[in-house]
Amino acid sequence: MSVVTTPSVLLRSFNYSETSQILRFYTLDLGLIGVMAKGVRRGSFQGRSSLNTFSRGDLTVYVKSTRDLQTFKEFNIREGGQSLGRDVLRFTAASVLAELVLTHAESEPGREIFECLTKGLKKLENVESEGVGLSLLSEGWLLVSLLGYKPQLDACVKCKDRIGTTERVQFDFEYGGIVCSNCSNNMSGSLEDCSLFEELRALLNGSRETPVRDIRSHLQLLNDFTLYHITGSKGLRSFRFFTSLMSFESRSFSNDDDPGFLTGEDIE
Ligand SMILES: [Zn+2]
Repeated sequence: MSVVTTPSVLLRSFNYSETSQILRFYTLDLGLIGVMAKGVRRGSFQGRSSLNTFSRGDLTVYVKSTRDLQTFKEFNIREGGQSLGRDVLRFTAASVLAELVLTHAESEPGREIFECLTKGLKKLENVESEGVGLSLLSEGWLLVSLLGYKPQLDACVKCKDRIGTTERVQFDFEYGGIVCSNCSNNMSGSLEDCSLFEELRALLNGSRETPVRDIRSHLQLLNDFTLYHITGSKGLRSFRFFTSLMSFESRSFSNDDDPGFLTGEDIE
């Protein structure tokens, strides 16, 4: 058994018995790990009332490679994630990033994934409310690309011809990219103009401030793409929830309705 201290972000926690929790972290040096934290529910956690999801800091664990669950020693928190916990839309957006990593990160550690995830969470904490959707979009696509599923947008995925800026195209989920108007003859569904994919190309190139004309179509595309390539038929629960929150907000943004139907369980 060895003792390892590594920069980490807490992605999820489950209560286990009266006093303990099972915590799932993405760590810089160990990748995705599960940790049994005995006694953390007793009283307070290191003087705090609770251990917040999306807290970042240095985790120290006793590691035994043959075990599924490692043993918690301490978590020295540098950024507490409280501002995500106070806002359901931000929290749900952060949960989408977490769920992507939880369902698809390889067991080997990935520095780029760790950095993308922590940068993304920070962005969601600090962005203006109306920018949460766009931030989820840019951070989500960057993460999907790092997980190995970058969509192909520069040329038709079938005939490899470059696509003109005014051409109408389709997105082929099986091939993972756009299809020119010639090749899409036998495909069902309608052609779309290229602007959606030009915006997506800019997002994928790391331009986090790309304005998009139709955020809903973009979110739909990201959702469908992760459904096809990453999460399987189940899809991401938090993504479904985020989309319903977005439509709720657009319907009732002007009044003060409390979205009282939400519970912590829906999100976790
Ligand atoms: Zn083609």
